[in-house]
Amino acid sequence: MQQLETDYLVIGTGAIGMAFVDTMLDESDATFIMVDRHHMPGGHWNAAYPFVRLHQPSAFYGVASTELGSNRIDETGSNKGFYELASGPEISAYFEKLMRERFLPTGRVEYFPMCDYEGDKTFRSLLSDQQYTVKVNKKVVDATFFKTTVPSMHKRGFGVADGLTCIPPNDLPRTAAGYKRFTVLGGGKTSMDTCVWLLDNGADPDSITWVCPRDSWVMNRTGTQPGTAFFETTVGSFADNLDAMRDATSVEDLFARMEASETMLRVDPNVEPTMFHYATVSKGELEQLRRIKNVVRGQRVERVETDHMLMVNGEKVGAEPDTLYIDCTARAVPLKDDELTKTVFQDDLITLQVVFAPLLTYSAAIIAYVEANFETDKEKNSLCAPVQLADTPAEWMPSTLGNMWNSFNWSQNKELRKWTDQCRLNPNAAAIREGAGKDPAHKELIGRIRQNSMPAIMNVQKLIAESNSN
Ligand SMILES: Cc1cc2nc3c(=O)[nH]c(=O)nc-3n(C[C@H](O)[C@H](O)[C@H](O)COP(=O)(O)OP(=O)(O)OC[C@H]3O[C@@H](n4cnc5c(N)ncnc54)[C@H](O)[C@@H]3O)c2cc1C
Repeated sequence: MQQLETDYLVIGTGAIGMAFVDTMLDESDATFIMVDRHHMPGGHWNAAYPFVRLHQPSAFYGVASTELGSNRIDETGSNKGFYELASGPEISAYFEKLMRERFLPTGRVEYFPMCDYEGDKTFRSLLSDQQYTVKVNKKVVDATFFKTTVPSMHKRGFGVADGLTCIPPNDLPRTAAGYKRFTVLGGGKTSMDTCVWLLDNGADPDSITWVCPRDSWVMNRTGTQPGTAFFETTVGSFADNLDAMRDATSVEDLFARMEASETMLRVDPNVEPTMFHYATVSKGELEQLRRIKNVVRGQRVERVETDHMLMVNGEKVGAEPDTLYIDCTARAVPLKDDELTKTVFQDDLITLQVVFAPLLTYSAAIIAYVEANFETDKEKNSLCAPVQLADTPAEWMPSTLGNMWNSFNWSQNKELRKWTDQCRLNPNAAAIREGAGKDPAHKELIGRIRQNSMPAIMNVQKLIAESNSN
């Protein structure tokens, strides 16, 4: 057993562990030991499918100190006209470079890849029996709370008959050639990406079957763009959502209003979605998805047989033997675990979570700033109330109120406000930096937001109470 010593022992070098330490390096003199099972920082991005991209612009993803990408606007493809979205390999390279060129050269970070944290400030190498125990002078930081899974990491939850091929999307580019029929299993963003990949690469829409257990409301990418050039669409989307929140009479009515202002979209306007996971798409991607007509809705697959799929409800859906099945059923964040949120600061433990949904890295950076600059756990927790990630349209409401509440609290502290206003991970920082808001159209939007915030909050609180009592 080797004895080590540090101020902060950080478990996990995924995006949130990296975002936390990055801000702490600037805001404190502390030392860090970072431990991870992976051989490289970046967490699940190291196991991502090859055509994955961020949902959100690279402009405000990653860590606070260092740009990801070059802030360019895409000129081609389904993201044309919008800020670039980093690919999986770009994100992995970004985190690897950060560790190598920024964290380690400070002399304040020790990095232990290929090591399993066993609890009680002890970890073990996965390649030898070497065990380490750490004297932690300040805190343990748990950067593993979300237990993010991607298709290549998860255990398939349905059976597949011998002789059939069922792959994670990771294997699609090297397996797809030669197949004439494709069945995509799953209703989340990974399944949407897979369908779009098949269509973009020449598959006939009629050769694709999409098993979509739950339809999803998705966010319109126009509402997530940073900077002055997009002020009217991005801030305008928030203002439109506040109008909807103020006037809605039910969750369904709320989403119908957000759809009318095009801040929320859905694949099939005739199907009421029952899922909301913050997936963000462009209208171009939506048009592609709408070309797929063979959609099996409302059911999960129990077992895939040569000539049919047996669904969980006992129904059989016809299938062809020469089909390639693509498993996109991994749940990125297993939300229905017994613990959905946890107090962030608890004595000598920090549990990194979302304090501004769904922006995980911005959240981790804020928690770091608060850790470094405030004194008591009470004070710190009052600024970092965890926001539960939504799974359903109804859960969009508490998640949005949580964001508004935390943002308000941050704005009440002069120093914290100054920091969030300039932090590159804050989606509004670019507009603030560029001095947006002076234009009459901008002023009108800001006025609308000021006027509608309180009535919107009050009405949504009423809708939450109603939906909890149903
Ligand atoms: C396809 C996809 C697209 C996404 N797009 C966006 C986006 O655009 N914007 C956004 O904000 N978020 C996005 N997300 C959410 C994304 O999951 C987060 O941004 C972030 O990458 C999650 O990082 P994490 O550090 O919480 O988790 P992880 O990446 O899972 O990192 C946790 C790390 O902890 C390690 N670990 C766990 N247990 C132990 C142990 N006992 N010992 C040692 N190490 C351990 C793991 O090996 C892992 O490296 C996306 C997610 C997916 C799947």
